[in-house]
This record gives sequence, structure tokens and C-alpha cells, in this order.
Amino acid sequence: MSEELPKRQRLAMDTLLAHAGGDPRDRQGAVNPPVYRASTFLFDTAAEWEASREHKRRFDIVRYGQLATPTTLALEEAIATLEGGYRAMLLPSGLAAVTVALQALVRSGDHILVADTVYPPTRIFCDTTLRRFGVETTYYDPLIGADIAAAFRPNTRLVFLESPGSMTFEIQDVPAICAAARARGIHTLLDNSWATPYFFPAFARGVDVSILAATKYIGGHSDVMMGTVTTTEPLYEPIRSTVAELGFCVSSDDAYLALRGLRTLSVRLERHERNAVRIAAWLASRPEVKRVLYPALADAPGAALWRRDFLGASGLFGVELQQVPKASVDRMLNSLELFGMGASFGGFESLLIPVDPRPFRTATRWTHDGPLIRIHVGLEDPDDLIADLGRGLEQLRG
Ligand SMILES: *Cc1c(COP(=O)(O)O)cnc(C)c1O
Repeated sequence: MSEELPKRQRLAMDTLLAHAGGDPRDRQGAVNPPVYRASTFLFDTAAEWEASREHKRRFDIVRYGQLATPTTLALEEAIATLEGGYRAMLLPSGLAAVTVALQALVRSGDHILVADTVYPPTRIFCDTTLRRFGVETTYYDPLIGADIAAAFRPNTRLVFLESPGSMTFEIQDVPAICAAARARGIHTLLDNSWATPYFFPAFARGVDVSILAATKYIGGHSDVMMGTVTTTEPLYEPIRSTVAELGFCVSSDDAYLALRGLRTLSVRLERHERNAVRIAAWLASRPEVKRVLYPALADAPGAALWRRDFLGASGLFGVELQQVPKASVDRMLNSLELFGMGASFGGFESLLIPVDPRPFRTATRWTHDGPLIRIHVGLEDPDDLIADLGRGLEQLRG
């Protein structure tokens, strides 16, 4: 951890969201950083050019657009501050953030442990690219907790977590898993896209690397693709170097959009949570619904761990319907007017899609009788959303 981080962390999250990321005094007082559209930055003297290439400074000096612009640096600084990590880096998608962080920390012959409930493309990367390079993946039960230690081998390099789990919303015991890994010198990486640092302080819970699909709640407006990786100090250089070696970069235009979205993260998330709690509880009371997978509901799976470790719940959850023919579910999906059918979540708008986790589970067995749907509750009026869902549920009859 850097020296100045604890001081910055003393400010409350809402204040950080308003002020983190650059200093208006460094940009002629402009509240927001300008969008620097630049590949090339010119230097006055040979000595300054030489200094810009020094190993230690190469990631925080503005010299080539692929490495940094003042706009991307402002966003990186804001993300690192909110996450409570050492420094952050930007990637062109959330998936790129996952794959580059994994790739940077392993070598041929290594073994890694990955939660059985990770975002499916994370799993596909492990089963294809990492396997091709001689890295073996074992999937573990997300509810394993401290027993993860029994799965460690001499060549286990890292543990990858995602909480709650993709599609099925299991809450992991992140502190217990991270403590067990740390005791063996094994790195821990968390996909924190569902909660964001606003609802889950990853570094305070013990992780070494926190990954965000910034496409989701950070951008918040369904108009930008981005990922971020925030690390502890020892892991910054290896991962940041890999990002540079692979040539990944993010445009200043996109960085600006993400920073603009970030400023309202707290007000958006609080509204997503309030709407989602209300709609999830309403769904749980409906006869067409078998169970609701949302840890913020008191009797939902994972509720106790969620209450212990999280500061809130975002707007995404799962719903298992009573058993009905597929044609009935299709009729329901086609009838909805406010819930859009589309990939992603974290934007201002409500979404609803059918999901099936079964092909993506190998360490555990997911069983459901009725169809499973995934709902993202947006910022619309919850009464309007409930009315839309109510009409949709009626389509399930007959
Ligand atoms: C969406 C998502 C990603 C990937 O982000 P993209 O920006 O869509 O590539 C990774 N992890 C989780 C948990 C996600 O929901």
C-alpha cells in the first residue's frame, strides 16, 4: 500500500466519488478532465524524453496514448481510490480485465483454483487459452470457505473468486478464502462487478486483485465497454506490464464516459437496491415463482454472509419460476414492455433474460425444475416495473 492511501481512504465513499481522480488545479480549474484525443505527446528536450522512458515511471507519465493520457490517468486514480487498492489499470472490456489479470500471474505448469460459479467467459478462457499454455484449472464449490486449503497444491498460483456467483448468486466467504490463500503465498483475484467497491470493499476483505466490468455499474448508462484491474502494490507491475505488452488500451473518450458515470455511482446503486429489494420481495410472494436468488432477501441463500461482508446489494438477481412449458416463458418474455431482453446489466434500464447455468457447472450440480430468469432492476418507477412483471407472469398461465 502506498503511503498516502490511508489518508484518502478516511474520506467517505460519497465524497471520494465526487472528488477522486485528478485535481482541477492541474487542468485550469476544469471540474472534469478534458478528453485528450492523442496518440503522441511531444517533449521539449532530449533529457525529458529520456526521463519519460525510465522503467519506474513508464506507467504514470503521459508520453504515448497507448500507455496513458491525462483522461485515462484520472479514471485510473479514481478507481484505485474507491477500491482502496494501490493502483488501477483500464482494459477495453470487463472480460479483457479478467483474462489479462489471470494471464499475467501464471506460467506453464501452474495450477489455479476458480469458483465453479464464475462468469462463463472467464471459465471458457481457463479451459481454452490457459489450458493451451499448460495451466491447469480446478473448479471449486463457491461455498467452500476456509476448506479451500485442502485444494491447494504445491504449484497452485492463484484463487479466482466471484461473489455472488454468476446466474445463481452464491455468496462466497471471501475473507476466509483469502486468509487461507495468503497463508500459502497464493494470490487471490475477485471479480467484483456485481457489488462494485461501493457495496464490497474488496481489499479490506483480503483480496490481492479486484476486477470490475466497468461496462456495468461504473459506466452505468449502457454506452461504454470497459474493465478495470486494481491491485496491491506487489502485483501492480507484473499485471500492468502484461497489459502494455499485449497492447491493450482504452480511449480517452471512453475513459471520460466511465468517469462521468462513476460520479453518480452511489445514488444509482442505492436506487437500484431499493427497487430491486422491493421487486424481489414481491416476486417471492407470487405463486408463479418458486424461489428468488437475491442475497438481500432475509431468507435467501447467502443472506447471512452477505449481511456480514457487503454494504449493499445491486440490482441483479435470479428467479426460478414454477415449472411451465418453454412456450409460456417465451410468451412472458415477449409480453414485457419495460424489461428489455438483452445482455449485460448495470445500466439505468431494466432487463430480463432466461439463463441456464447447468452447462457451466462441473464442481457442483445446479438443479432447477422450473425455468430460471435473470432480472436487472433499473431506475424506473418500481410500481410500473411490478405492473409490467405482473402482466408478464399472467402469460405463464395456460
Ligand atoms: C459482464 C461481466 C464481465 C465482462 O464484462 P464485459 O465488459 O462485458 O466484457 C465480467 N464479469 C462479470 C461478473 C460480468 O458480469
